[in-house]
Amino acid sequence: MPNNRFAFFNGEIVPIEQATVSVMTNALNYGTGCFEGIRGYWSPEESQLLVFQLRAHMERLHRSCRILYMQLPYSVDELCAITIELLRREEFREDVYIRPLVYKSDPAIAVRMNGLTDAFTLFALGFGQYIDAPTVRACVSSWRRIDDNIIPSRAKASGAYINSALAKTEALLNGYDEAIVLGSDGQVSEASAANLFIVRGGTLITPPLTSDVLEGITRQVVAQLARERLGLPLVERPIDRTELYVADEAFFCGTGAEIKPIIEIDRRAVGDGQVGPVSGQLVRLYADVVRGRVPEYRQWCTPVYER
Ligand code: PMP
Repeated sequence: MPNNRFAFFNGEIVPIEQATVSVMTNALNYGTGCFEGIRGYWSPEESQLLVFQLRAHMERLHRSCRILYMQLPYSVDELCAITIELLRREEFREDVYIRPLVYKSDPAIAVRMNGLTDAFTLFALGFGQYIDAPTVRACVSSWRRIDDNIIPSRAKASGAYINSALAKTEALLNGYDEAIVLGSDGQVSEASAANLFIVRGGTLITPPLTSDVLEGITRQVVAQLARERLGLPLVERPIDRTELYVADEAFFCGTGAEIKPIIEIDRRAVGDGQVGPVSGQLVRLYADVVRGRVPEYRQWCTPVYER
């Protein structure tokens, strides 16, 4: 059960029960919205809540709005301030998930983006694991990833998540933990709600931003950590489906998923079926970074409470 008490709604913080919309809301009917998923991590050492990559998420929200003709009346700085204010009101002392959402609030029966009223809301709730296991077994989905020319894949568009939900559902119903989704060109794109990396011969490989992926913030973080901390080369290039089967290691990364080693794909063990050395190192390093324990990356963590 969600444990949050408030939401930022119609320009102010209100009790969560008051943050409701009409059934006529355009976004509810047509999926005309865009959103972010942000994590805050509780640091027991510091007795502090640290929001990870807050600015980067709010910048991406602005880019999604730009692509989708949506009006966001708050600057990135204002969005960050709203987030901090809401989290302080909630007085969370645990890991949290933060959800800003821009949506077409207009009641019009109108399938378009222009000339309709937009609204912004933000809420946060206590949150643990998104994928509830330390390692995952994945399948290649029979669903294809939405093409950038169908629903812009680099915009985190609400309606696009029908695609993610179908892929995830198929994977779960077939006994897997997560889906790997191919693009319309038949090459690997990403997971239902995470980006994907493989390791081959000591090189990290991930599909390029032109492979219909979301421009993942964790993907960027992994790239930087791999370069600066692990000294590993990273190549962005298309990945064939069968390359997944011969990879030494593979992992998902995302705000929700964090770094999740994949130990099996389409019933073939990845490497020796155990967490590989690169994935293992990244899991540990990421866990330290997000809780503010690595001074060089401390600027990625925004403290919520005044100390
Ligand atoms: N791809 C999709 C489709 C997603 O929903 C997410 C989660 N936001 C990601 C990738 C990972 O992005 P990020 O690291 O910015 O959370």
